[in-house]
Amino acid sequence: MKILITAGPTREYLDPVRFLSNPASGTLGYLIAGKAVSRGHQAVLVTGPTSLEIPPGVKSVQVESALEMKQAVLKNFPAVSALVMTAAVSDWRPKQRHNCKLKRKSAWNLPLVPNPDILKAVSGLKRKDQTVIGFSLETDCLQENALRKLKEKKLDLIVANEISYIGPGRKRGRVYLLHPDGKREDCTGFSKARLADFLLKKLEKFAQKKNSGA
Ligand code: C5P
Repeated sequence: MKILITAGPTREYLDPVRFLSNPASGTLGYLIAGKAVSRGHQAVLVTGPTSLEIPPGVKSVQVESALEMKQAVLKNFPAVSALVMTAAVSDWRPKQRHNCKLKRKSAWNLPLVPNPDILKAVSGLKRKDQTVIGFSLETDCLQENALRKLKEKKLDLIVANEISYIGPGRKRGRVYLLHPDGKREDCTGFSKARLADFLLKKLEKFAQKKNSGA
């Protein structure tokens, strides 16, 4: 199976040295990519800036902004059986990227514009034989919000996790794998390595089912 994985944060620049971003470490996406190769699959990792090394055997595409990530995902999606979208994509970017470093000034407003939703763009292109997993990081109404995103983005599965799961360090908080039919699998307490294995096994099962026409 060929699997496309996105990982890490995006950076949305307002000038050459300043950007909006988030503390995503990329750990889970890199683990999924590395383990996919160990299990005999091909992995393409579209990654925002992280401090991690690309796992051996993984093809990587380095990007910074959400727009670059979208372009790389759309280019690679037609050739894969599965997409796992772990990246923490910035929902907005500065309206303008200044070419020169902005000078110090007193309080000011920074106009932002929405970034495209990469998964929504993919949902329009998705074939029956392809599986797409999304992630939903929530501070409130964890399951309700994640299920809404699963439907809106036409996902096969969504991982709903609480805010304490993002970034490096010890993981607390609830983590669920939600299915379109409302089925819920509780992954609370899983290490990221265990979650990566768990998701890969799901993808393998989906691929088997879809290939057999079931
Ligand atoms: O930001 P949100 O909670 O909607 O993210 C849910 C899922 O959508 C994640 O898998 C994330 O990678 C993806 N996403 C995206 N494009 C965006 C924002 C999020 O594909 N602009």
